[in-house]
Amino acid sequence: MTDIWTDALAGLRPRLGAETYELWLRPLVLVTTGQGVLHLRAPSLFMKEWFENHYRDAVQQEIYAQTQEHYAIEVDVSEEGAPIADEAPAVVQTPAPAPSPSRRASAPVGLSERYRFGTFIQGASNELAASAARAVAEEPGRRFNPLFIYGGVGLGKTHLLHAVGHAVHEQRPDRRIVYLSAERFMNEFISAVRFNECDQFRKRYREDCDVLLIDDIQFIAGRDRTMDEFFHVFNALYEAGKQIMVTADRTPSDMQGMEERITSRLNWGLVADIKPPDLETRVAILRQKAEDERIAIADDVAVYLATLVRSNVRELEGALVRVSTFAALKGVPISQDFVREVLGDAAAPRAPQQLTVEAIQKAVAGYFSVRITDLKGQRRHKGVARPRMIAMYLSRELTGSSFPEIGLRFGGKDHSTVINACRRMAEMQTTDPELRTIIESLRAQLVGPQA
Ligand code: ADP
Ligand code: MG
Repeated sequence: MTDIWTDALAGLRPRLGAETYELWLRPLVLVTTGQGVLHLRAPSLFMKEWFENHYRDAVQQEIYAQTQEHYAIEVDVSEEGAPIADEAPAVVQTPAPAPSPSRRASAPVGLSERYRFGTFIQGASNELAASAARAVAEEPGRRFNPLFIYGGVGLGKTHLLHAVGHAVHEQRPDRRIVYLSAERFMNEFISAVRFNECDQFRKRYREDCDVLLIDDIQFIAGRDRTMDEFFHVFNALYEAGKQIMVTADRTPSDMQGMEERITSRLNWGLVADIKPPDLETRVAILRQKAEDERIAIADDVAVYLATLVRSNVRELEGALVRVSTFAALKGVPISQDFVREVLGDAAAPRAPQQLTVEAIQKAVAGYFSVRITDLKGQRRHKGVARPRMIAMYLSRELTGSSFPEIGLRFGGKDHSTVINACRRMAEMQTTDPELRTIIESLRAQLVGPQA
């Protein structure tokens, strides 16, 4: 189901172009519609004014053209700081190339030029995934097969997948590389069934393919026939020693509705996660991006920006582009104040007393890509035990709740468990700088950057 705002955007997008659309219109969200008023929310005052001065009329006209009704458009400014550009424009994909009789396979289709190893910044948060991807690119089919990379949105999964495609192609031009999203895989399969072209489909993915790169495999979970087809593709390639690399937003075992025989195969090789980048990595990414785009940004401003936008790389890049575009338009340099002005209340510190244990659990779960139920659960696995202790520690520090109360909110644990967790986190921070950084960045995320 769509709404008038979405419809209006869809109508305007071809006229305004993807870039304008991404930059100026998409950050605005629909709050309510009714009685001839469309109520939108902008992430900052700056965005609101820009919209009103440049695009409001066009949107009104578009709505009128679509509905024959006049709407007034009101824009307010988000309190929380709205998310900044949550998705990059989709990569344009075309079907896999027909097999070429020559030794040199044609260049891989659908890979974005920008997504290469050379432009991927490695840091603690993506170390394993990036190293494994490099190893796979060096020796496809030999080292980690399949390679499964998972993590939250905007953390570089697609980037690594493309980077492998480029690198294999450069080093071994005879290898046939097939890259596509799982969604596209499904659509092609459905159309192959419908038009009686299953033979061609099978040939393309099971035979004419040396390296299969599939993005967002979680998409096929619960789609029985597509899963079945993928299962056979996997087996054919795997048995022939061909490389398979897959990304997803969660681990194989966490994909609800995915057949067990697929989950287990996805676990055969290496499963590597990507976490949100730490501050140093975020700054390094910003510096590189600024250099690529010839954006002049002082070091302290880059650090400041990286402190404000922590959740993912895509948002970080979006924020840099937005800030630099505004700065260029206004003819001012990018200063800390200017960044704060453009990014709006996202930059404002939030009052600590409003914090709840739930908000902390949510932030910690998001940071580590674990589920809130795991934080509240009993599992002692390090992957959840440490986030749990950190969440307890921050709950005590930032909400001032009592130990028994915190225990209660963590699935009814005894207060002594909470006390132990807090004590251990306090001690470990003195010897473990990484832990200290994690806790600091979570604290900053929850209460705003500290002076
Ligand atoms: P995902 O597929 O995990 O949602 P993407 O691979 O699409 O994320 O990454 C989002 C954006 O962030 C892309 O523009 C990508 O180039 C950039 N990016 C992510 N991680 C890094 C990194 N470590 N170094 C440089 N750019 C990165
Ligand atoms: Mg992706």
